[in-house]
Amino acid sequence: RPNSAGINVDIDSEREPFEAEVNAFMDMAWTAAPVINGKSLYSELKESGGVQHKVTAPYDSSVTVGDVIFGDREHVEQAIESSHQAWPLWRETPIATRGNCLNTLADLLESNMAELVALCHKEAGKTIHDAIDEIREAVDFCRYYARQDQVFISQKTRSFDGEPVSFSRQGRGVFVCISPWNFPLAIFLGQVTAALMAGNTVVCKPAQQTSLIAARAASLMKEAGFPDGVFQLVPGTGSEVGHYLTSHPLVAGVAFTGSTQTAMRINQTLAGRQGEPVPFIAETGGQNTMIVDSTALPEQVVRDVLRSAFASAGQRCSALRVLCIQEDIADHIIELISGAMDELVVGLPYLHKTDVGPVIDTAAKEKLGRHINQMKRTQRLIKEVELDACCDNGMFIAPIAFEIAGLSVLEEENFGPILHIVRFNARELPQLVDDINATGYGLTLGIHSRNETTYRWIEKQTKVGNSYINRDQVGAVVGVQPFGGQGLSGTGPKAGGPHYLYRFTQVKYDDTPA
Ligand code: GLU
Repeated sequence: RPNSAGINVDIDSEREPFEAEVNAFMDMAWTAAPVINGKSLYSELKESGGVQHKVTAPYDSSVTVGDVIFGDREHVEQAIESSHQAWPLWRETPIATRGNCLNTLADLLESNMAELVALCHKEAGKTIHDAIDEIREAVDFCRYYARQDQVFISQKTRSFDGEPVSFSRQGRGVFVCISPWNFPLAIFLGQVTAALMAGNTVVCKPAQQTSLIAARAASLMKEAGFPDGVFQLVPGTGSEVGHYLTSHPLVAGVAFTGSTQTAMRINQTLAGRQGEPVPFIAETGGQNTMIVDSTALPEQVVRDVLRSAFASAGQRCSALRVLCIQEDIADHIIELISGAMDELVVGLPYLHKTDVGPVIDTAAKEKLGRHINQMKRTQRLIKEVELDACCDNGMFIAPIAFEIAGLSVLEEENFGPILHIVRFNARELPQLVDDINATGYGLTLGIHSRNETTYRWIEKQTKVGNSYINRDQVGAVVGVQPFGGQGLSGTGPKAGGPHYLYRFTQVKYDDTPA
């Protein structure tokens, strides 16, 4: 099957009926709570006085989305126990049956597209393009991993002295999946479906900010036929639920996507816990650069810079943070970028005209605000987009661009619509590449050049997971651009690629005497 087709919302006759369907869900109130052994504990916990956290929309804090009751240590225990009990049966479940559950889930995601888009607008502040792409990517992950059944075909061969031997793979046990708010459905389901397809049972902890989306996904998983007990959902904080999960001795592996800092903490927790050493799959942040030399096509550069830096309000780990322009064309490109930024529409995410929606929450807005203030004090401001009144009640950050003195000015990843620009001269290119590598991050790299020798050289010298030449550097497509970084950006293997499932399995070697 090809990748999920989605809906072309730039064609009025396709968008309008779809918008009407989405609107029918915009006033719905969603709920989330721990789901253990196939059962949501929402009503039970509500009756017994569990704290209901009100969820408000990032674009307008007076808009309610629903409420969530977080899990605690006891739910973590129950969840791990339930997954542990369910594992032997799921491990023995034929791979084709597991794949069927993933494919059914993909179909359900497509048939519930309108509701999921509404939920992505409201809880995650996603624009219509981003929300549709989110659901398509989730569908793609399900179908792609369902197709990876060759991972489990046992390999029969002979040892050097002629004995028949075989290798086979199976799941490892209870996998913990900890997912981020910036891809609340796609990455959440990407991790979970990979772990399940590989024959593990799963306990997942979604990002606190997007628990409602995860809970809706969990109910679709039940509908898709995943047996009770093979996956549990425990919404909650990282410091409580995340910590207890990753310290648990029964955990057989952890898949995590989020900040580099949190990945480091999980790594330490895993190292200090009782129990066996387990695989840790981490997908983290980046200090992503784009190198533009004097042979690049300026209009194409501008288009790709705007998308890479400001789409999704810069809240992608792949997003462009530092644009490095060869000085010969720097003034020209900066002028074009500045002009193009004037055309960006920042605003309510569910309106088709909006290019840039809100950031996720108050903490993100404040952190980005501090960085912007510091940049304004010390570096050259090129352009700050004006916000209009519709942004007053929300978590909006105006897209902004600075020219900075060098990469070393930046201490950490700034997860928002902030572009930093650095000039270099042709002789400094090797130094620039060294500086990029010296950040320690290695996620995405963009190169704009029509000189093949140059772009091949840059591509070879840079330690990054995904390089993109003469195009934008966000929006990796499942099965086409497997995605994942190196160094501080993650452990690999790449999600949506042919090697991903292997890390969720263990290999058995069977030497049968002749
Ligand atoms: N796969 C996404 C992309 O290529 C980024 C994933 C992330 O932000 O974690 O843009």
